[in-house]
Amino acid sequence: MRYFLLATLLFLFSTCKENAQNLSSEKNDIEKEQLENEKYIGEEPTSPEATEVYEPIPPKVTLNNGVPSDAIVLFDGNGFDEWVHTADSTAVQWHSNADGSMTVKDKTGNIQTRRNFGDMQLHIEWKSPAVVKNEGQARANSGIFIQQRYEIQVLDNNDNPTYPNGQVGAVYKQSIPLAMASAPTGEWNSYDIIFHAPKFENEELKQPAFVTVLHNGVLIQDHFEIEGTIQYIGWPKYEAHGKAPIVLQDHQDDSRVSYRNIWVREL
Ligand code: MG
Repeated sequence: MRYFLLATLLFLFSTCKENAQNLSSEKNDIEKEQLENEKYIGEEPTSPEATEVYEPIPPKVTLNNGVPSDAIVLFDGNGFDEWVHTADSTAVQWHSNADGSMTVKDKTGNIQTRRNFGDMQLHIEWKSPAVVKNEGQARANSGIFIQQRYEIQVLDNNDNPTYPNGQVGAVYKQSIPLAMASAPTGEWNSYDIIFHAPKFENEELKQPAFVTVLHNGVLIQDHFEIEGTIQYIGWPKYEAHGKAPIVLQDHQDDSRVSYRNIWVREL
């Protein structure tokens, strides 16, 4: 009986020890993985040279009238070569103006780029007409639909309140802008948009889209996690898609919004 008790105790002790060893080795594995994932491991450097990194060397980008040399110019006033109407892929009927801008031609429909884009830096300038017409969402409403789905609102909001998640600079019906940075009605605005496309795997969302927007140089969307395709009625939902065009909106209520100087840097 005494030997049996002793044997049981020894067995229990060894099992506990083994479990403890397993736990500790699992803990070590996790700590090791964490360390491997960290950029800065090893002993603290003791010279400035030890932390100097020589590659990759960033490609040189020069500016030509503010347009980066590695940008794809989508509109510079020299025609609509890069654009088609969304509905039927026909030649763009919007107005081409002598000052190098274009203006929405009412009820001709949205236009979109011939090219498809994923992650990108987009520069676009827009202005509402100097002569004010209509109220709320009907005053100079247009928009930039990134990947045909995610709208950054364009609207004349000067002395023209509307629901803030649909105002100028909103990710429409998803994100109120951090500030209202519009130029006076009839003057040019700029949007600089940094967009990271959503990632899908087997039709499932793996990573949502993110967008950062500067309006006339003012940060108005700060790495906002897009919740899905813009819905006028309903909740946003993701649908699996690949690279897709940039769309400019004809809101079909005589918006007369103009655009100019549109370029993209693919990221
Ligand atoms: Mg709009």
